[in-house]
Amino acid sequence: MMKIKVNENYSCLKESYLFSEIGKKVRAYQEAHPDKKVIRLGIGDVTLPLAPVVVEAMEKAAREMGVKETFRGYPPEYGYDFLREAISAYYKRNGVTVPAGDIFVSDGAKSDVGNIVDILGKNTVLIPSPVYPVYMDSNLMNGNRIELLEAGESDGFLGTPDLLDGETYVIYICSPNNPTGAVYDRAGLKAWVDYALESGSLIIFDSAYEAFIQGDYPHSIYDIEGAEKCAIEICSFSKMSGFTGTRCAWCVVPASLETEGGYSLKKMWSRRQATKFNGVSYPVQRGAEAALTEEGIRECAALVEYYMENAKIIADTLRRVGVWFTGGVSSPYIWLKCPKGMSSWEFFDYLLENAQIVGTPGEGFGEAGEGYFRLTSFGSRENTIEATARLEALLKSGV
Ligand code: PLP
Repeated sequence: MMKIKVNENYSCLKESYLFSEIGKKVRAYQEAHPDKKVIRLGIGDVTLPLAPVVVEAMEKAAREMGVKETFRGYPPEYGYDFLREAISAYYKRNGVTVPAGDIFVSDGAKSDVGNIVDILGKNTVLIPSPVYPVYMDSNLMNGNRIELLEAGESDGFLGTPDLLDGETYVIYICSPNNPTGAVYDRAGLKAWVDYALESGSLIIFDSAYEAFIQGDYPHSIYDIEGAEKCAIEICSFSKMSGFTGTRCAWCVVPASLETEGGYSLKKMWSRRQATKFNGVSYPVQRGAEAALTEEGIRECAALVEYYMENAKIIADTLRRVGVWFTGGVSSPYIWLKCPKGMSSWEFFDYLLENAQIVGTPGEGFGEAGEGYFRLTSFGSRENTIEATARLEALLKSGV
């Protein structure tokens, strides 16, 4: 028996990650019913292939890697300048200034969200509920004190700092929100930036779904004055450009983020990445750069439009059967209230057993998600149509 000590904070985590739990249940069902076609509208994974301009750029880069003169070894751990410049220019399109030097390219927003806790000390962390579960789990792993900011139907699933008493927090904000699809307007985000500046708090802003925003909502926290003094932003090519399997994202840590005691978060993040990360592969960074050219943005917008048409199909079905829902406008997710007062896992089993549809129980996104359920529009059109037809028939049948 080993005598080493382990990180006992892991015992505070739920036994398995939400999507592993769902995968286990679906595999068990499929094994017991091999003849049934299960349709997955659960996990937030994309299904459309990469845009042609991205593939061409990656092919060209792969060929360069096969030629002595153009071969490249380790990339810079903070990303190639060509991609940092392209990301900075992408922000400019939305009227936001983010210097290329403050941008750190990474292999995923999940890595950045999970790793950022490395450079932070023992703060109280304020986490919205419901929300992407990685914020909670990565802070539990570090033994941090966590407070939940519960949001619900009455506030449009958009928590505000109104009831906070000026305490210093590390505040997580996800807009558009996964799973609810709620998106902050400028006034809503300004309230958070003002709170952070007054209380000496840090905001970690996750904008992984910014490309889905419809209408005049901020795509970045840096749209709000003063945010460069209190916020880190994490964004990803996963959903905007279909990079879930290709892996590329970025994290903005402004040079102006300084803490009492004279610590620069940018210097610390630089140091952390230089020690524990060896960068993203050259072909992937060239692909990501291509996704941010005019042509790339156009081709990727067509992917987003396709998913949003799926969202409309799901939304129309729910309206017809009288199920309350939100989202599906500035987000690929539809957040619905489980019918007949079912709990979210009860509704999960009900849908799997009676219609062979897989969704995500709202409870997996935090306690405030109990009684709700998330469907994604990332499936194929064909599967979305088939799943919604099954859903409509089931809910009308009254089973
Ligand atoms: N942030 C949010 C809110 C997400 O929903 C996801 C993935 O679903 C991620 C981050 C992870 O993105 P990536 O694929 O870049 O790791």
